[in-house]
Amino acid sequence: MSNCANGSCTPNRSIKCTVSNCAYHCADQQYCGLNSIQVGTHEANPTKSQCVDCESFKLKG
Ligand code: SF4
Repeated sequence: MSNCANGSCTPNRSIKCTVSNCAYHCADQQYCGLNSIQVGTHEANPTKSQCVDCESFKLKG
């Protein structure tokens, strides 16, 4: 798995992301370094973008 946490981030150009606090975020490039991500929701009935989450998020450590 490639990610920024181990210093070898390969940006996945199919997954744009600006969450620089995430361990998988490719620092200077606004992309995710994972091959795929899991998206989900914390709401019972999601109605707007704020209701959904990247569940692959991991706090940069
Ligand atoms: S895992 Fe999710 S939050 Fe983290 S960089 Fe990838 S898309 Fe962004």
